Amino acid sequence: MLSCAAFVAAVGIRKATTVRMSVHGSTAVRAGSGSMASQKIRAMDVALNLTDAMYKGQYNGSQKHPADMERVLRRGVSVGVDHALVLAGTLSESREALALACDESLRASSGCDLFCTAGVHPTRSKELFDVHGALQSKYLEELRGVIERGKATGRLVAVGETGLDYDRLHFCDIETQKRSFLIQIELAEEYELPMLLHNRNTAGDFVAFMRARRTRFTHGVVHSYTGSADEAAALLELGLYIGLNGCSFKTEDNLDTAKTIPLERVLVETDGPYCGVRPTHASATMIRSSWPANDKKKYEPHATVKGRVEPCHVLHVLEILAQLHDTSVEKVARITFENSQRVFGLPIQEPSSA
Ligand SMILES: [Zn+2]
Repeated sequence: MLSCAAFVAAVGIRKATTVRMSVHGSTAVRAGSGSMASQKIRAMDVALNLTDAMYKGQYNGSQKHPADMERVLRRGVSVGVDHALVLAGTLSESREALALACDESLRASSGCDLFCTAGVHPTRSKELFDVHGALQSKYLEELRGVIERGKATGRLVAVGETGLDYDRLHFCDIETQKRSFLIQIELAEEYELPMLLHNRNTAGDFVAFMRARRTRFTHGVVHSYTGSADEAAALLELGLYIGLNGCSFKTEDNLDTAKTIPLERVLVETDGPYCGVRPTHASATMIRSSWPANDKKKYEPHATVKGRVEPCHVLHVLEILAQLHDTSVEKVARITFENSQRVFGLPIQEPSSA
């Protein structure tokens, strides 16, 4: 274990965070039930693209406000989202994600316990191969290096995100995506790591691909789920977990599908900065919490940025799931947090009773 790992134990005893009804001032968050104030929530955002430029204040290449990653993480912690998995989709993002997860001062100042993945996103799969389609062995060796270093720190807990995406074939053809996916299943097998999986509009191909190789890795989560109830059932049958975020609750059909997924197999996430609950979504009336939100051009540190999703928004996912399953936000948080610990083999931390 490297020095990074010692810090896991140090922050591991941090107390669970009490949900605050106010993020800033007295009116920022409105309580849905009135009972939340006395309850404790602990949650993990299992899909946070913390390497995204928006958390550095950059939008489409132009600087709109100061970098505020630490503040963003702290806002999540203030509502109990005190764990996050930083996703990587390329070799360079894998390096950056590991550096963030290993940044002891960021973890200490934000209060958020950060972990990371290493891998190549399906739409970026061409990076693994040269123009003739031959494997870039140096790229793969360097990715292995990140995985080995990350595993040694205890901070790198999954291979991914990888999988199949047929919505964006203009970035990468199916054959290349499958080759990349297979290589990463082999990495998960070799390093005995769970998989952070992406599946978009693959008409059964993803399920078939998984079914043929499911015994090669332990746990896997299909994140940002937007598929059908039948596909969800097939994934559950394969022993996979399902990651839900704002994009998973767009339509009434989505909500009906989400209801069929037992909480014991659900992980919660934001896919921040991307997949929030929008006013047009079928789930919009189900959310209870809100934060002040400014346009990026009128940035204020205490407010979120309109259109930029961040870990605090995991609370929306918990609130929607609580209503779909007719239970409490606290119960959804407890079950899904335990799922995260199980899937990623995180150190078990007893919530504080104080
Ligand atoms: Zn994804």
